[in-house]
Amino acid sequence: MKKVEDYVRSIPDFPEPGIIFRDVTSILQDADGLQLAIDEMQHFVEEVDCDVICGTESRGFIFGMPIAYNLHKPFVPIRKKGKLPLETVEESYDLEYGSATIEMHKDSIKPGQKVVIIDDLIATGGTVEACAKMIERLGGEVTRIVFLMELAGLKGREKLAKYDVKSVIRYD
Ligand code: 5GP
Repeated sequence: MKKVEDYVRSIPDFPEPGIIFRDVTSILQDADGLQLAIDEMQHFVEEVDCDVICGTESRGFIFGMPIAYNLHKPFVPIRKKGKLPLETVEESYDLEYGSATIEMHKDSIKPGQKVVIIDDLIATGGTVEACAKMIERLGGEVTRIVFLMELAGLKGREKLAKYDVKSVIRYD
């Protein structure tokens, strides 16, 4: 029986020399790999209080949406700046390589709602920390953050120390 990590491809020197990119397309293009990845991430969501699932553009959409559908929860996309049509909150953050600004609609989270954030991978933790800040500014409470993969050496968990963080696969 294959484990979900068996479906991940590791690509050296992408997108820059020295980076080992953990590719999820190899999971998605295998029906068993896809189901296993969603099931294992979903299990972590089911353990906590959750009114809303937030996913980050773009791989957080791929993994967050089926979980929201399966659990009959709303899904809120956190998007790169300039894509959302209504009033937004925004946060800027540093990436493992480069920097970025993300946004979400102001009306997407109601005060007091319990929110689980989904993304494919935690590197430095900057992306999801920015997501959590926006959710909290809107009055939401982040009850858990679920990743498929964790690059433990980059110590993203330290940045997210005040949150409950789970990952299915850990790379040391
Ligand atoms: P962080 O903000 O934690 O430094 O970076 C995480 C973000 O960068 C995630 O949204 C993730 O999609 C992307 N990312 C960084 N490195 C990788 C990688 O090796 N594989 C994949 N699939 N995504 C990565």
